[in-house]
Amino acid sequence: MKNFNIAEPQTIGQVTSLAFEKKDKYFLMAGGTDLLAEIKDEIIEPEVIVNLNSIPNLSYIKKEKDGVRIGALTSVAELAEDPLIKNEYPGLHEAANTVATPQLRNMGTLGGNLCQRPRCWYYRDPQVKCRKKGGSKCFAFKGRNKYHAILGGGLCYIVNPSDLAPALISLDAEISISSAKGDKTIPLANFYILPRISVRRENILASNEVVREVKIPPAKKGEKSTYYKLKERGVWDFAIVSAAVKGTVSGGVFKDIKIVLGGVAPVPWRLEKAENIIRGEKATEDLLRKAAREALKEARPLKENGYKKELVETVLYRSALSLV
Ligand SMILES: Cc1cc2nc3c(=O)[nH]c(=O)nc-3n(C[C@H](O)[C@H](O)[C@H](O)COP(=O)(O)OP(=O)(O)OC[C@H]3O[C@@H](n4cnc5c(N)ncnc54)[C@H](O)[C@@H]3O)c2cc1C
Ligand code: SF4
Repeated sequence: MKNFNIAEPQTIGQVTSLAFEKKDKYFLMAGGTDLLAEIKDEIIEPEVIVNLNSIPNLSYIKKEKDGVRIGALTSVAELAEDPLIKNEYPGLHEAANTVATPQLRNMGTLGGNLCQRPRCWYYRDPQVKCRKKGGSKCFAFKGRNKYHAILGGGLCYIVNPSDLAPALISLDAEISISSAKGDKTIPLANFYILPRISVRRENILASNEVVREVKIPPAKKGEKSTYYKLKERGVWDFAIVSAAVKGTVSGGVFKDIKIVLGGVAPVPWRLEKAENIIRGEKATEDLLRKAAREALKEARPLKENGYKKELVETVLYRSALSLV
């Protein structure tokens, strides 16, 4: 491991100007649970680590008239335990509780969880220079791809590893980003990008930008949400397939529904086609499975991950029926 310096900025403004000067040689650190592993595995070689923990007041969960604001440095454990989140956004509460282990939830932050790097085993192997690391080939495409994407792949087949992202997108969350030029707020759904847009990055963040806050609009009357995650190991694991579902149900019929999948694509994947089939119909296992099958007609599984299509049916009917 190469030596690096640690910067301790006191304001977001100091981070963005530092970042602007140093461009690709500095890396932001929140809880460090992913970043430090990347350094130890020699995937990145920072000259400077910018410790966001030195900036006061970036950890909060505040209820306001136009929704709930959550600071980027709020820990995943705080999200998982917060009574307001539990009561008003149960899907987010459930998602936060499935993230990793208690220790990792204590250290890991909202901003870090949303910006964590992919878990593809070729990417994490220091000996392998795949396309995401500037090489010319995706080794997963014809190699071992059991955990890879069945949707939105091409060039690179990572899956977005965050449990919080699908849950927040299903709740119509927005993300606020600061840079030397000022602040901007965009739908979280537009934060993530497919490999065909940029194979080296997973989101729109430029090197001089910092995630400052996430905002969730107030839950509408009668709106319910849930998060259902299938994983290989019972204790802790990343999602093989997960579904975040938000909707309003009356007499067993979804008046409105939004479905976002995790574990199936390089970005959290909205299942709009399935939403259109389910909306206005009596929710049954048969209907939900049919809706998943229709929506997955565009899926392009690789050699080892076709099983994920059936798992999508399972997570969809189990999560949606739990709201009825
Ligand atoms: C063993 C293990 C199991 C895990 N299981 C799960 C799981 O089941 N579900 C799940 O969702 N996650 C899982 N994770 C991932 C874990 O949740 C993340 O490592 C953690 O949330 C990252 O948060 P952090 O604050 O430690 O980020 P860091 O490690 O500090 O940073 C991660 C990345 O985000 C960037 N970053 C951090 N904060 C900001 C910011 N404010 N603005 C811009 N960029 C930022 C960093 O530069 C870095 O690239 C697991 C991790 C491990 C090690
Ligand atoms: S899926 Fe992406 S990260 Fe994995 S080997 Fe292919 S290019 Fe690299």
